[in-house]
Amino acid sequence: MHDHDDSACHSVTRSNLSWALFGNSFLAIVEGVVWVLSSSVTVSVAALHDSCDALTSLGMLVTDRVSHRYPKVPSYVALGSVLLVIIGCFISLCQATIRIFFPQPVEVFHFWELGLLGLGVNLFLAKRLEGGTSILEGVSSLHFYEDALAACVILIEALCVRWIRLETLDPILAIFSGLCICCLSINRLISVMDEIQK
Ligand SMILES: [Zn+2]
Repeated sequence: MHDHDDSACHSVTRSNLSWALFGNSFLAIVEGVVWVLSSSVTVSVAALHDSCDALTSLGMLVTDRVSHRYPKVPSYVALGSVLLVIIGCFISLCQATIRIFFPQPVEVFHFWELGLLGLGVNLFLAKRLEGGTSILEGVSSLHFYEDALAACVILIEALCVRWIRLETLDPILAIFSGLCICCLSINRLISVMDEIQK
């Protein structure tokens, strides 16, 4: 088990987790605004997911203080966050499936900028947490690389809208993005359950 008594190492962890909380909250707010203005389900998948990630970072930040006394607590926070992400995915997948059968008008609203912003913020957070000292940061860093890939889906949408009608393209990409996040989350759920049972 990693030695959790080193206070210097802890302040680095806390600063990294604060960056993650700030980055995720910022992205969730921007995506929320674009979602309302464009009514894109692909953007709603990203907005819901980043809101869950922000809550996770908050949970990690709060429990980091007690993790040396209650080593199991971060695992339970991780469990809660994975379940939250899976529920968020399920809601998005239902929304997107309904949109396929009952298409609704979708507006292009700064998709290139949003995709690039998501890519930039997630790569920055992944790089920053990669240099962290705790297992928690290692796991989060990997997760931000996955989220950077998810941001690419919005870029794909911005590109393909030249050839495919957005009303058709948007729910298809939302389902693709939702299923990818769901598969990765189920994988994570299994490893968190293993961690808890140790
Ligand atoms: Zn995420």
